[in-house]
Amino acid sequence: MDILLYILIFIMGTVFGSFFTLAIHRIPKNQDITHTHSYCPNCNHKLGFLDLIPVFSYIFLLGKCRYCKKKIRPRYLILEILSGFIFVLVAYFMNVRMDNLEPNVLAESAFLALYLCFIFIMAGIDLENRKIEKSISMYGVVIAIAYIVYLCVVENASIYRYIIYLIIYACILALDVITLKRYAKNSYVNGIILTIITMSIFTGEYVTINTIIMTALVVAFNFLLHKIKNIRKRVRKEAKDYGANIRYGFLLAISNILNYIFILSLYKFGG
Ligand SMILES: [Zn+2]
Repeated sequence: MDILLYILIFIMGTVFGSFFTLAIHRIPKNQDITHTHSYCPNCNHKLGFLDLIPVFSYIFLLGKCRYCKKKIRPRYLILEILSGFIFVLVAYFMNVRMDNLEPNVLAESAFLALYLCFIFIMAGIDLENRKIEKSISMYGVVIAIAYIVYLCVVENASIYRYIIYLIIYACILALDVITLKRYAKNSYVNGIILTIITMSIFTGEYVTINTIIMTALVVAFNFLLHKIKNIRKRVRKEAKDYGANIRYGFLLAISNILNYIFILSLYKFGG
């Protein structure tokens, strides 16, 4: 029976994945993500139900738009499948089983799904636009506060553990309001800080610290490669804004998911 449950979770993950691609595409353009019909970005033809089934539509339409025959980029398919797998992995390591479907397991899983929405969409938009979208940061803050309320009220967690996070949230949001639009550059940094706090609340301090270390290592390694390339090419003048192109949000998201799955697997198999 568990295999059926996991197939269901995989399908749910792909449906979420197809929502992520839509959100990543539309949110930076300020388009509606819930009401407006999906359309082909090439010919603008409205897409029907058969065009929108995750994974299967892509395969049956052979990766082309049914109406204009333009190729659909395979990253949509990749993101859908990836999201399905991550949902299954997390559910497996969180011990979601048919005989274990109690309200608290379901609630925890639901919060985790909401968090994965946050991290995926934040990462996708950062990758494409190098921007931490404010509406997504705010969504992260809202679900994180809801999660804290849930933990404290239902699972009797101590609020004191989370007070520091709530204070940081309040400070960053206040700073955002005060400096409103005057320092556009800072909003990227603020977005990253908000992301890290949301990350700590959902995946814990330990995972978050490892996430930050892993991201820093990747950035440092890349910087080194970049330097070596420049020395080989005898480039004297350094590009000043090398750091301004790094997608920190995207890198944090990837290493957060990897670290989180790794820690969950340690808990499961390491006793
Ligand atoms: Zn088309």
